[in-house]
Amino acid sequence: GHAFLHSSTFQEMMLKPELIKAISEHGFTNPSEVQFQCIPKAMMGLDILCQAKSGMGKTAVYVITSLQELDSASVEQPSILVLAPTRELAYQIATEFQRFKKYMTGARLALFFGGTSVAQDIENLRTGTSVQIVIGTPGRLRALIDAKALDLSHIKTFIVDECDKMLIGLDMRADVQYIFKATPVRKQVMMLSATLPREIQAVCKNFMQNPEILTVADDCDLTLEKLQQHYLKMVEAEKTKNLMELLDLLEFNQVIVFTNTVVRCLALAELLEKAAFPVIAIHSSMTQEDRLARYHQFKSFEKRLLVATDLFGRGMDIQNVNIVINYDCPIDTDTYLHRIARAGRFNSKGLAVTFIASERDSQIMNEVQDRFDISVTDLPDEIDCGLY
Ligand code: ADP
Ligand code: MG
Repeated sequence: GHAFLHSSTFQEMMLKPELIKAISEHGFTNPSEVQFQCIPKAMMGLDILCQAKSGMGKTAVYVITSLQELDSASVEQPSILVLAPTRELAYQIATEFQRFKKYMTGARLALFFGGTSVAQDIENLRTGTSVQIVIGTPGRLRALIDAKALDLSHIKTFIVDECDKMLIGLDMRADVQYIFKATPVRKQVMMLSATLPREIQAVCKNFMQNPEILTVADDCDLTLEKLQQHYLKMVEAEKTKNLMELLDLLEFNQVIVFTNTVVRCLALAELLEKAAFPVIAIHSSMTQEDRLARYHQFKSFEKRLLVATDLFGRGMDIQNVNIVINYDCPIDTDTYLHRIARAGRFNSKGLAVTFIASERDSQIMNEVQDRFDISVTDLPDEIDCGLY
């Protein structure tokens, strides 16, 4: 297959010993192609606009380089800022930072997102020990800047993960711009995503100075080679029955089933629960505490089946997920790409099955095949479990 790990090692990257130690403890030996391309450039202080396939280690690109640049002894104010579109992703990113900064004593981080007490955040910022790394979702960060609780005037690295998602919607874009303005003019900016439509690239560049643009050639290179993709045609009323049959048939480690709305997510999870499937649901209409508790239950393999909305469609990295089922066909090709890439992380095998129940669904699947230059076929009656 296609080489995705680079033959050089992290040892050769001239990183701080405390960082090298954490990287190797984390089980990373060789950088992936995107890491090999981006890390040295980022270490030179260049602005980075990076488009690379899902699951290929974009997180480590900015975690490693920003920690490399962090002088944990001397900073009293945050110097690294990471923005993410969802709370669970912000949480996951914070976990990555915790792992990699294990041997960097004195580097502290804080995580801020909505659904929790803003007063408590403000209190912690005012009275707690100083933090060097701030990770959060844009709405809450903006509120903390407004309350003059969060001082971003010493930011050196400004990172936007899933940058297309963060900048497509005008509300979120306005929040990102507001936060950006609270940071110094001179800083390094890194923006990353698996999907970067041209119009959004232009928006990204407005935040950057002569960025190093690292992109895969075109959409044809965006799908994951070891991920089997199929569809299954049916009428709407048969979706649940077919899903249950499929779950009985397939050998899965963990599965994510995507629905298009909170209401459908809830209803489906309830039906699966009644049928004794080891299911858990995550969507935006539950308390934040509950959301994170469920994320942990799934991540720690307590539950093997997650029914979710697009809330979980981007960035989430759960290594045991080998199957994604689009119970509801995604609304567009970007959403399709991000969802199915929850399986097949870091070049592992996986299977994605999309239910097609309308003319519109077929249309989306045609667009998927045209755009990514792949052929998605009808799910065969029997599928060799060695393939996923
Ligand atoms: P992306 O953001 O590009 O979708 P992630 O940063 O979420 O991908 O990484 C996907 C998975 O690959 C994570 O579980 C991560 O720990 C793992 N990973 C990343 N880089 C390496 C590496 N160099 N060696 C081994 N595993 C890696
Ligand atoms: Mg990512």
